[in-house]
Amino acid sequence: AAEPAEGKVYIIGTDVTFAPFEFQDINGDFVGIDMDLIQAIAEDQNFQYEIRPMGFNAAVQALEANQVDGVIAGMSITEERKQKFDFSEGYYDSGVVMGIDKDNEEIKSYEDLRGKKVAVKTGTEGYSFAESIASQYGFTLVPFDESALMYEDVKTGNSAACFDDHAVLAYGEQQNIGLKLVTEPEPGASYGFAVRKGENQELLQKFNAGLTNLKATGAHEEILEKYLGENA
Ligand code: GLN
Repeated sequence: AAEPAEGKVYIIGTDVTFAPFEFQDINGDFVGIDMDLIQAIAEDQNFQYEIRPMGFNAAVQALEANQVDGVIAGMSITEERKQKFDFSEGYYDSGVVMGIDKDNEEIKSYEDLRGKKVAVKTGTEGYSFAESIASQYGFTLVPFDESALMYEDVKTGNSAACFDDHAVLAYGEQQNIGLKLVTEPEPGASYGFAVRKGENQELLQKFNAGLTNLKATGAHEEILEKYLGENA
């Protein structure tokens, strides 16, 4: 493996609650697919890093403002984001889906959202998607900074639905967070590791080299299976 830059510790921003990609276990430690991936890649490529759980939008803004070196946060590789960031190869495919309260029998499609509120998470693909269909289906957006708060707003009944990534909502449904899925996921982009455009290219190259190795050894698939089981 390559020698690490002398004493360099890369600062990596992430989300706070985005299970199974990043979340706290009962000991308060941050675990999840992203946490295992960056750890395995750092070991493979011999670099040091520190994780900063900041929330998704805050992490993306911190990256833009040069306050962190990279972001790993289930971050979708979109054309718009490529104007500001360079992304690694994709490591997981996801798309946006609608979530509703598990006991709600009224909402079956976007048409049933007319006149209702819909919870969204600032700065995400789920937000952009909901915004893009809000006037067509006649609902209003209620923004939150964290997925957990967005789900809470649906469970209390203030919002009729929320939009979040399929992998995350499907995992939550399985873990009995109190929400269920009733629509098919919208097609979405892959998740990638991001650095500021044109900067930290050494870190980006190491991430890609490590990811390629993990894919070749099967370690990447093992990490996905550890959290997603047979849905990996
Ligand atoms: N994949 C979504 C996005 O990139 C959501 C990421 C997140 O909430 N951590 O916008």
